[in-house]
Amino acid sequence: MRYTGLINHYKDRLPVSKSTKFISLGEGNTPLIRLQNIPALLSKDVDAYVKYEGLNPTGSFKDRGMTMAVTKAVESGSKAIICASTGNTSASAAAYAARAGIKAFVIIPEGKIALGKLAQAMIHGAVIIQIKGNFDDGMRLVKEVAGHAPVSIVNSINPFRLQGQKTAAFEIIEELGDAPDYHCLPVGNAGNISAHWMGYKEYYQDRKSTKTPVMVGYQAEGSAPFKKGMMVDNPKTIATAIRIGHPQSWGLAHEVEKESNGWFDALSDEDILAAQKLLAEKEGIFCEPASATSLAGAIRDVKNDKVGS
Ligand SMILES: *Cc1c(COP(=O)(O)O)cnc(C)c1O
Repeated sequence: MRYTGLINHYKDRLPVSKSTKFISLGEGNTPLIRLQNIPALLSKDVDAYVKYEGLNPTGSFKDRGMTMAVTKAVESGSKAIICASTGNTSASAAAYAARAGIKAFVIIPEGKIALGKLAQAMIHGAVIIQIKGNFDDGMRLVKEVAGHAPVSIVNSINPFRLQGQKTAAFEIIEELGDAPDYHCLPVGNAGNISAHWMGYKEYYQDRKSTKTPVMVGYQAEGSAPFKKGMMVDNPKTIATAIRIGHPQSWGLAHEVEKESNGWFDALSDEDILAAQKLLAEKEGIFCEPASATSLAGAIRDVKNDKVGS
């Protein structure tokens, strides 16, 4: 049967009804690629996989959440969506708004966003508002505007975003036949790690897996509020997608840490770039620095025997 996107595929597990019109670009169903060379380089006998979320329609996992958020915005009669973004969210929001025929407003930190993503959002016809400030300032502005204008926020504080993103955990369990022992993720606002945990718990409760993974969240050292245990006012890192000092899912992420027996840690930009290069050179997989952060962390913790032993 033709795959037509994750809402249609998982409609029994998502908050949609028969009358909901799905706004989809065929997102989800991304490859889970087994690492062939890196474990041997570490002299460790671990079975490790990367989920290639860059193969979603606009190039990031944000599409999993955006298909749900925009579907529900349209269902509730919204004619416009708004988000703050460091890049990937803006491209995704702009594309799904274009697909739905509604307007997207995107607030971005001046000079601190991936340029390709900005071009992507612009060509989809989004209204781009650059602010002097960082993502966290943008997020405050988004909440203010949405407080007195008829627009839907599509950042990960939108609960439908997490509903869509939980499907990545479903796909992993279906492909592996069970949940993995550990799941390592990069953490910015911590929406994605929270969404994965929701998905893992849901499948475990429905006996579609025999266990839930330990969830490990990795940040960049200059932008590590979870590792530090407090908000960071001037986050700095080359990994723009996780350059977030005031995470929106602070409470949720701490529940994930506790319930899954997981932890948070941080990596230097140098380690992050080295992992990006290693994955590209040794496995043939290209990803952005934020994504490589989880690999950098996993490599360090596999070497330390914290992961996989
Ligand atoms: C959005 C994003 C992140 C951070 O996800 P959060 O849900 O904010 O923790 C990490 N990596 C990439 C590539 C992203 O697009």
